Amino acid sequence: NKAELIELDKKHFLHPTSSIQAQQKTGAPLVFTEGNGIYLKDMEGDMYIDGMSSLWNVNIGHGRKELAEVAAEQMNKLAFSSTFSGFSHEPAIRLAKKLADLAPGNLNVSFFTSGGSEANDSAIKLVRHYWKVKGFPERKKVITRKRGYHGVSMGSTSATGIPEFHAMTTSLAPDFLYAPTPYIVEGEFTEEDLMKAAQEVRKMIESEGPETIAAFMAEPIQGAGGIIVPPEKYFEEIRNICDEYGVLFIADEVITGFGRTGKMFGLEHWDVVPDVMTIAKGISSGYVPLGAVMINDEIHRELIKYSKGTLFHGFTYSGHPVGCAVALKNIELIEEERLIENAAEMGQELEKGLKYLEEKHWSVGRVRNVGLLGAFELLADRDKNTRFDATQGVAGKVVQECLKRNLIVRSVTYEGTDIIAIAPPLSITKEEIKDIISIFDDAVSAVETTLK
Ligand code: PLP
Repeated sequence: NKAELIELDKKHFLHPTSSIQAQQKTGAPLVFTEGNGIYLKDMEGDMYIDGMSSLWNVNIGHGRKELAEVAAEQMNKLAFSSTFSGFSHEPAIRLAKKLADLAPGNLNVSFFTSGGSEANDSAIKLVRHYWKVKGFPERKKVITRKRGYHGVSMGSTSATGIPEFHAMTTSLAPDFLYAPTPYIVEGEFTEEDLMKAAQEVRKMIESEGPETIAAFMAEPIQGAGGIIVPPEKYFEEIRNICDEYGVLFIADEVITGFGRTGKMFGLEHWDVVPDVMTIAKGISSGYVPLGAVMINDEIHRELIKYSKGTLFHGFTYSGHPVGCAVALKNIELIEEERLIENAAEMGQELEKGLKYLEEKHWSVGRVRNVGLLGAFELLADRDKNTRFDATQGVAGKVVQECLKRNLIVRSVTYEGTDIIAIAPPLSITKEEIKDIISIFDDAVSAVETTLK
């Protein structure tokens, strides 16, 4: 029963990215038992709209039996075997080939992990290794961006540009630098002001010395940082800067991959191809843990040429057969059911809905979305782009009002922002988008009455 589970939860379960003290007061009040499409059902039988695809990962939607069947089939046949030295299996080989077909440019080679953090750590280690074996061991610094989120392992925590995530560990891994991101928290700004963030990357490379920089790493659209969509020319400029200084460009497509933005990968919106790409989440729609780093043919060729001896990097679950089999089926269904095209179309519906909220509510501004990755902000004065006092917790209140109405969304409050993020499964329908907008409408109305 629920009371018993909540007691056990308090006593025995340390939850990720949660307030330890709040959990001790209330437990985890929502205990889900089933999922179907965009909906989650809790122990009381109440249905919730999963407006975040849980952790931006259940791209295909909940309850797909085909994925469960493939997992069972693979477990019955070969639940696990190693992919270390001299060993391989068909699901990992086929998935690596499929990813090569899907990825842009000549990103043709995959190294598998269990998730996004491991993928980013692996990417960082691989690019450092690449430079080292080529004879440039001093090329080890990695430039990431403020408000960037890359995970919670030691390397990916250090790559993350959100100070809240640094606070827990008394020291970070060395050789990470944080460039500004194209987002201005408060006050008026132009597109040109935002583009300055790209020039800051150039300045950073020059002041540190290009011969010390291994890579620049960025999410095409920052997710946890607040759905930060770059100006049109930003990534083209970043690509040029990286080329000019011989710096490798790592795209963290952990959220933006596998159709989230209405294209297979996020950077395709700007026709920019990275040298290295990390993926996770939507690769398996969260049905099993899986991630990967993809490297291009040149890096692969150079590694073959120079990387003598054993590559001392590999997880027990690098290329788990069940994970790979499920990912293959997940990608097949995403393609067959044209879910990426649906994400693009439903993205337009979402855009209309967000604009409607902006027209109707004085506090709603800076609405934005690319496909089914969207956000709106709550602003004290949206013409001047000024913020509410952080102590008011406006975004948190909106999230709570949504939850009361059975919609799960998340707020982003770093640097005093009040951002509400939305990222539903790609299988969503027009009617379901309308339901979400209508809940947002009511939730914002409820909070606005307390503000003025
Ligand atoms: N990179 C990005 C952009 C993410 O959003 C996340 C997780 O939210 C990660 C990396 C880390 O992935 P994981 O939680 O699977 O380790």
